[in-house]
Amino acid sequence: MTRQRAVILEVLRSDKRHHTAEEIFELAKKHLPTISRATVYNNLHALEKECFIRRISGDGGPDRYDNAFIPHGHLLCTRCGGVFDIDVPNFDGWIKESLGTDAESYELKIRAKCPACRVQD
Ligand SMILES: [Zn+2]
Ligand SMILES: [Zn+2]
Repeated sequence: MTRQRAVILEVLRSDKRHHTAEEIFELAKKHLPTISRATVYNNLHALEKECFIRRISGDGGPDRYDNAFIPHGHLLCTRCGGVFDIDVPNFDGWIKESLGTDAESYELKIRAKCPACRVQD
């Protein structure tokens, strides 16, 4: 693994907010000042293809990246635009019971205010 890729993965793992490619580039630069935007974007595409990370299509905004590849739900904050993991207890069990098979993938997005934004209102 290249040093650039290791830094990009480290950035992805260090935050629960699900960064955009641009945010990942800014954070990676703090560790590797010489890293280029193209390197970051190319590595993100490669990591997604190799199933290390998952891309979440943004709600009108830029796509975001998730370091967990296992399917899980997301809260899309309608105020700050952040994307956060949510745990829906036994959602996988419910799918299996309803469909009679496991889901190969799913996208669960719930739009609401995140806890930090709720405090500010
Ligand atoms: Zn928020
Ligand atoms: Zn996630």
